[in-house]
Amino acid sequence: MRLDRLSLLQLPTPLHRLERASADLGIDLWIKRDDLTGFALGGNKGRKLEFLMADAISKKATVVVTCGSTQSNFVRQLGAACAVLGIRCVAAVMDTPYEHGIPSGPRLVGENGNVVLDEILGVELHRFPDGTWDSLFALTEELERECEGKCETVYRIPVGGSSGVGAAGFFYAAMELQAQGVDFDQIVVASSSGSTQSGLLLGMMRANTRVIGIACDDEPEIAADYAVVARELAALVGLDRKLDVDDFDVRFDWVGGGYGIVSQASTDAIRYLARTEGVFLDPIYTGKAFAAVIDLARAGLLPGRTLFWHTGGSPALFAPIVG
Ligand SMILES: *Cc1c(COP(=O)(O)O)cnc(C)c1O
Repeated sequence: MRLDRLSLLQLPTPLHRLERASADLGIDLWIKRDDLTGFALGGNKGRKLEFLMADAISKKATVVVTCGSTQSNFVRQLGAACAVLGIRCVAAVMDTPYEHGIPSGPRLVGENGNVVLDEILGVELHRFPDGTWDSLFALTEELERECEGKCETVYRIPVGGSSGVGAAGFFYAAMELQAQGVDFDQIVVASSSGSTQSGLLLGMMRANTRVIGIACDDEPEIAADYAVVARELAALVGLDRKLDVDDFDVRFDWVGGGYGIVSQASTDAIRYLARTEGVFLDPIYTGKAFAAVIDLARAGLLPGRTLFWHTGGSPALFAPIVG
């Protein structure tokens, strides 16, 4: 199978030490700035899109259809990629889709933040009342069929761009990091749909760097999905590694009230990193992941050199929070 790549980002993203946070937390802490990809206000989805959109182009897609939350960082970056390539971008969204029961707690409203950027980019957002992820997937399929009915060539992209092809972005991100010449004992990264962690895990294996995913979804069974993505990726890049659920280090202690629910620890971590380093995080992903860095550092569980992989998301800071 061949793996094409488009150039959308300004790479490599910066890598630097967090001097004040390192001193305060008593660890050797660095940051990989994927909030600064130079593409559509940054974020980890751009790396996946370099591969996904190359695939869409090779399949002669005229429209890309995906789904997610209304404040999705993925939909924003996808919208920009589609704009660059002259392809329609259709997204089915709910403010706070959920897996099991309706979660409670403060959450982002589907106004301002990424929604403003989506409108500017010309994304066709189809907004639905909150429901389960399965109901959102069904609504997305309806939109796909509608587009096909109009003789469009649809390229379907799973939530968060998490397929083997999308994960290739982070396999090569791991190569990019290793070429920057600093070795790490562990990487801490926010994890949700899983192709970021899958790509990094496979890409960092030879370097012997642990990859610790901080879950932003309250679903312990997601690690099984990550393993599927990792196997697809291994086949694409010609690696004979069969990753299993047990190969994934995913921590659920910082997920708070669930996907899309803002936690106090996340809010505190956002303030902490802004006030020590002037770096902005986001309430749904990186705030939770950095809260984990703070707790793990203070518990003495981050020996040697640690990399916090910043996956972006700060436009969501401008979305109102309710509840
Ligand atoms: C999507 C996203 C993540 C999670 O990445 P996955 O590859 O879906 O696990 C983390 N941080 C931010 C800011 C994101 O938008």
